[in-house]
Amino acid sequence: AITADDLPLDNSFAALPPDFHTRLMPTPLPAPYFVAASAKAAALVGLDARALAADDFVAVFTGNAVPARAQPLAAVYSGHQFGVWAGQLGDGRAILLGALPGPGGAPIELQLKGAGLTPYSRMGDGRAVLRSSIREYLCSEAIAALGIPTTRALVITGSDKGVMRETVETSAVVTRMAPSFVRFGSFEHWFYRDKPEQLRILADYVIANFYPELKDAPNPYKELLAEVTRRTARMIAQWQAVGFMHGVMNTDNMSILGLTLDYGPFGFMEAFDANHICNHTDQQGRYSYANQPQVGHWNCYALGQALLPLIGAVEDAQDALDVYQDAFARKTDELLHAKLGLSTIEENDTILFDAMFKIMHDNHVDFTLFFRGLARLRVDAPESDLPALDAPLRDQFIAREAFDAWAATYRARLRREHSVDAERAPAMDRVNPKYVLRNYLAQVAIDKAQHKDFSEIDKLLAVLERPFDEQPENAAYAALPPDWASHLEVSCSS
Ligand code: AMP
Ligand code: MG
Ligand code: MG
Repeated sequence: AITADDLPLDNSFAALPPDFHTRLMPTPLPAPYFVAASAKAAALVGLDARALAADDFVAVFTGNAVPARAQPLAAVYSGHQFGVWAGQLGDGRAILLGALPGPGGAPIELQLKGAGLTPYSRMGDGRAVLRSSIREYLCSEAIAALGIPTTRALVITGSDKGVMRETVETSAVVTRMAPSFVRFGSFEHWFYRDKPEQLRILADYVIANFYPELKDAPNPYKELLAEVTRRTARMIAQWQAVGFMHGVMNTDNMSILGLTLDYGPFGFMEAFDANHICNHTDQQGRYSYANQPQVGHWNCYALGQALLPLIGAVEDAQDALDVYQDAFARKTDELLHAKLGLSTIEENDTILFDAMFKIMHDNHVDFTLFFRGLARLRVDAPESDLPALDAPLRDQFIAREAFDAWAATYRARLRREHSVDAERAPAMDRVNPKYVLRNYLAQVAIDKAQHKDFSEIDKLLAVLERPFDEQPENAAYAALPPDWASHLEVSCSS
């Protein structure tokens, strides 16, 4: 077995010129302890999650020891925050150790989040609290299990060293994994500093390592923008389809690989409200559920602006950005057909989908329970049995007649394609999750962890790793939030 000191790390980002990063050591935390590790994330880089509880790994993944082959660094980037140019940001509390070989040998970087001050910490303390580290860990792994591109979370360690947020909390380090943590803001950084040479170095690095198929295109930078735009549009369509809200879609949190990146004040939609804002700090609702698709497009424009000196003609950048609408619409259409169990396409399907979202919104039905329940709507049962069979779904609505009207249209639509209940229901269950990371579920795990009982993190992760499975023994994890959870608020303070 590999020891922590022998981790076969390699760091391609460290080979970029010195102004791309600052080489530095993480700052140790006193008496670190193991909190949790993801077996699935560990397996991606050839590690055994159980081994990560050993002292040598706890030391490395807290930043108290640095493996021989690590080249720790903090990267610089800039970005637009809430639509406003924010200037230089950078890894203010994240330290990249290097990459381990992943599936097929492709490197996967390991980054310690909460490992101490860096030159980019600005007013921050370089630390992360246990609460937000547990949320990031659980959600990264839950989003991956839902089949949505994301950074992963390998392990959390903790320390009783206090850090000040709204109250004093304990510290933690969450180790994240991704092929690269380069962001849209990494490009904006060089554009706004008027450093076209650095911009080109970064773009060539990203293309050579992560988009090698674009290298020989007539205008690889245009193709890069088009491909990132396409991936971003698809990822956001996937978010919308499971009711995921990121909460802080600033350009510094947008991955150049189209991965869901930086889990802070995120949330999964519960009582459906298209304008729901999951981030308590986002008073204007810039990053509300309904706004996510257009914000994704806006962010791609910010990237396009930054890449323009490399792309050349504005028309070429515009062509690349125009990929967004079509990619988003196609992916959304594909996902909604699957969510409704439709295997054919009809011209008026969009009307059916819009009407569904309207009654969901008007009645504040629970997003996850509604879609999961939709698979139980029957078409090939005797007409006289339908009211009783529809009841569990229908009872989610206050306006029952609105549901009845929509259900009649939907049932007629299913019948036109000769849909068979016994075939459609299991296919719908493979795309409509039963289990998502509801805020209250995370909070229960956090409350226990704050008393040093980390068992609920493992239990909840095991449930969320199989979101589409019925898991009758875990049905309580699919329940609506309890009353106490209506007071939960999440903000950027993490
Ligand atoms: P975020 O809102 O999480 O995307 O963070 C925006 C910027 O603030 C990034 O540059 C982070 O590295 C930095 N940051 C957030 N929290 C801290 C902290 N506790 N200490 C230092 N920097 C931080
Ligand atoms: Mg960030
Ligand atoms: Mg953050």
